[in-house]
Amino acid sequence: MDLKYISTRGDAGIKYSPSEAVIKGLADDGGLFVPEYIPKFDVKLSSLVGKGYKATAYEVLKLFFTDFSKEELMYCIDNAYDDKFDTDLIAPLCEHDGQYFLELFHGPTIAFKDMALSILPHLLKVSLSKNGIKEKIVIMTATSGDTGKAALAAFSDVSDTRIIVFYPKGGVSRIQELQMITQKGGNTKVIGVKGNFDDCQSGVKKMFNDDALKEDLLKHGYRFSSANSINIGRLFPQVAYYFYAYIKMIGEGAIKEGDALDFVVPTGNFGNILAAYYAKQMGLNIGKLICASNENKVLYDFFETGTYDRRRDFILTTSPSMDILISSNLERLIYHSLDGDHKECAKLMRDLTEKGVYTVSSSARSKMADFTGIFATEEQVADTIRRYYERSGYVLDPHTAVAAYAGLQYKDKSPAGSVIISTASPYKFVGSVLKAIDPSLVADDDFKMADRMSRISKVDVPAAINSIRNANILHDTVCTVEDMENTVRSELGLTQIELHGSV
Ligand SMILES: *Cc1c(COP(=O)(O)O)cnc(C)c1O
Repeated sequence: MDLKYISTRGDAGIKYSPSEAVIKGLADDGGLFVPEYIPKFDVKLSSLVGKGYKATAYEVLKLFFTDFSKEELMYCIDNAYDDKFDTDLIAPLCEHDGQYFLELFHGPTIAFKDMALSILPHLLKVSLSKNGIKEKIVIMTATSGDTGKAALAAFSDVSDTRIIVFYPKGGVSRIQELQMITQKGGNTKVIGVKGNFDDCQSGVKKMFNDDALKEDLLKHGYRFSSANSINIGRLFPQVAYYFYAYIKMIGEGAIKEGDALDFVVPTGNFGNILAAYYAKQMGLNIGKLICASNENKVLYDFFETGTYDRRRDFILTTSPSMDILISSNLERLIYHSLDGDHKECAKLMRDLTEKGVYTVSSSARSKMADFTGIFATEEQVADTIRRYYERSGYVLDPHTAVAAYAGLQYKDKSPAGSVIISTASPYKFVGSVLKAIDPSLVADDDFKMADRMSRISKVDVPAAINSIRNANILHDTVCTVEDMENTVRSELGLTQIELHGSV
């Protein structure tokens, strides 16, 4: 059956095919695309034991991307989950100190965003050709570090696409910067901006909404697209690894088909854990969805009280990819919990923009009872990293440690056990991880610290780190906020615009 997508805010009832929703990204009324109904997964899970990641991914994705043929979907899956990953398990499940972890950091940039970004370019390309769109796609994104590199790696040398990434010069870690500015691929461009992340993001948003620029692009055979985490082409590929983890647990004999397995997810923009929610609605036997937050605990407060309140200080933590006060994907859970009342959903989102706060009804709250929020302080995160290292020699990254802390708090309440979703390699955050384990291991050079981490963890330094040690710098463009548009124009061969005022 054909599945159509609609906006969480109504959008005059317009329905889009899956491929159209991938291309659009966001609905015209600012809402997020949700499926008209949530499909049921009716393959026997035990029949997928030992069949590999791709087989499970196919069974899940075909339910959401119903206008893709089997060949098209397999083409996307085969090109996404290949030897870019350092293990053909793609998402290995492992046990340490009596706790299961699903490692989602074996892709090209050693963080979980690779799970979805490696398939997005292929879903997008198939969607474009399906809809007869001839222009080349220009992916433009602002990054505070991780997403930019994952998007660059995903789109590098994908034909008929260009990718331009803006990052705050001086505002990302040296390893993150090196990862980006050594990026290969004739279609990639990385630009440092003299400004902070917000400046980069507003600059990009402004260009996306600039009609004159869009017209110029069309004349030159280009159109903009974004690779951000609210695209259904990023959200639904994440559903697959929850099924995969459950199937692996059956295969290991850790659970029986039908047991209620809990998942603990380190959460920022609410995309990862929302994928688990969809898996549960599709019929996977998930018990609790444990939403783990760092000190930016806006989601913990929301699940405790029903009030979402972003009016608070933004705290910089050792888990920066979870330093978020507006979790965009939560809008989809709100919509489903309101039984599709898009008017109420639109009102709550308007309240969030205008007042910074909203409260959901008690009936909507009762529909979210599968979620439990737990948060970890910076001290608890460091203690958890040290605890796992001391008890089992396993080294956690700080994001995973937030979830591992939550998992320990909840352990006695999980009858069938739980799986911690592990979202980054500790090599990405060597400084804070070594500091937690033993401050005397901290050095001023990240690569030196990587070697020390390898020695104490007995895990090889990943290729993603080794490959940037001596790599050539391929991108050295730095521009002012004002000059962002002309930098894009020059990259794409468009005429420059005159800047007003002084430079
Ligand atoms: C993005 C990210 C998260 C948060 O995931 P969401 O889907 O935004 O909730 C957690 N950990 C790491 C390492 C990330 O990069």
